[in-house]
Amino acid sequence: MASSKSRDSKQDTPPPVPEQLPAPVADSHTHLDMQGRTTEESLKLSASVNVTALVQVGCDVRSSEWAAQQASAFPAIHATVALHPNEAPRLVLGDMDEWAGRGAQRDAGGEAALDAAVERIAELAARPEVVGIGETGLDYFRTGPEGVAAQQESFRRHIALAKEFGKALVIHDRDAHEDVLRILGEEGAPERVVFHCYSGDAAMARVCAEAGYYLSFAGPVTFKANDALREALRVTPLDRVLVETDAPFLTPVPYRGRPNAPYLIPYTVRSMAETLDVELRALCAVLDENTRRAFELM
Ligand SMILES: [Zn+2]
Ligand SMILES: [Zn+2]
Repeated sequence: MASSKSRDSKQDTPPPVPEQLPAPVADSHTHLDMQGRTTEESLKLSASVNVTALVQVGCDVRSSEWAAQQASAFPAIHATVALHPNEAPRLVLGDMDEWAGRGAQRDAGGEAALDAAVERIAELAARPEVVGIGETGLDYFRTGPEGVAAQQESFRRHIALAKEFGKALVIHDRDAHEDVLRILGEEGAPERVVFHCYSGDAAMARVCAEAGYYLSFAGPVTFKANDALREALRVTPLDRVLVETDAPFLTPVPYRGRPNAPYLIPYTVRSMAETLDVELRALCAVLDENTRRAFELM
C-alpha cells in the first residue's frame, strides 16, 4: 500500500505486517467495518500472520446486520450482534453531544425505540452464523448518569437474548465492574460469558474465573504501565484466556496510537506469552481452542 509520507502523518499509517504466529489464532473481537479495508483485504492480511478466524462484533442494528451478513459470506468470520452500551441510551434519549455518536444525530425514541432495536437484534440472534450477543454491558466512561437506566435495561435484555438463543454473551465493561457483575448475578449469566477487552484487576479476574467467564485481553495488556492487567492475566485459568484486537482501537505496543487491525494481534500474543512464561506455539493453540469453545465455532 503506497502511502505518501508528505501527506500521511505517521499516526495514520498502518503498522507493518509482523512476523507470523507459529500456529493459528482467532481474533475474538474486531470491528472490520471501521478499519478502512475491504473484508477480503482484511482476511488476506490476517491470514498472512496466521490469524485464521475473526469474531466480527456489532454495536447497533446496522453494524449487527452487516456482521451477520459478512459471517454468512466468509467462513473465517463469525458474528455477534447487539446494541452497544453507548448505543442504547442514544436510542432512548437521542444523541447528545458528549456521547460523540457515530452517524447522524437522532431524536429521542423512548422505550419504543429500544424495544424495536432489541426486536431486530433478536431476529439476527436466531441465525446460525451469529455466535454471540454483544457487545453489550455497561460503559460509565462515555455515558453520563442520565443514560444509565437505558444502558442497564438494554444489558438485561441482551443477557436474556443470549440465554434464549444459547449464544455467548460478549460484555463491554468500562468503569462499571461492580454493576456488570451485579446485574449478571441478578439476571443469571448465560452458559458462556466473554469479558471483552478485560480491564479489571486480579481480584476481579478470580471472581470471573470462579464463575467460569472467559476474559479476552487486548492491546492494553502490552502497555508498559499496565502491570495490574498483566497480573490479572497471570491469575486467569489458561483455559479461560482469549485474545482480541478490538481494532481499529487499542493498538498494541510498539504501534500504540496507530490504526489497529487483526493482522497486528501477534504483538499482543507474543507479549502474553512472555507475561505467562509459556511457549508461543502452545499459547496460540490454547487461545484458538478457547475461542472456539467460548463461541462454539465449528
Ligand atoms: Zn467494547
Ligand atoms: Zn468492540
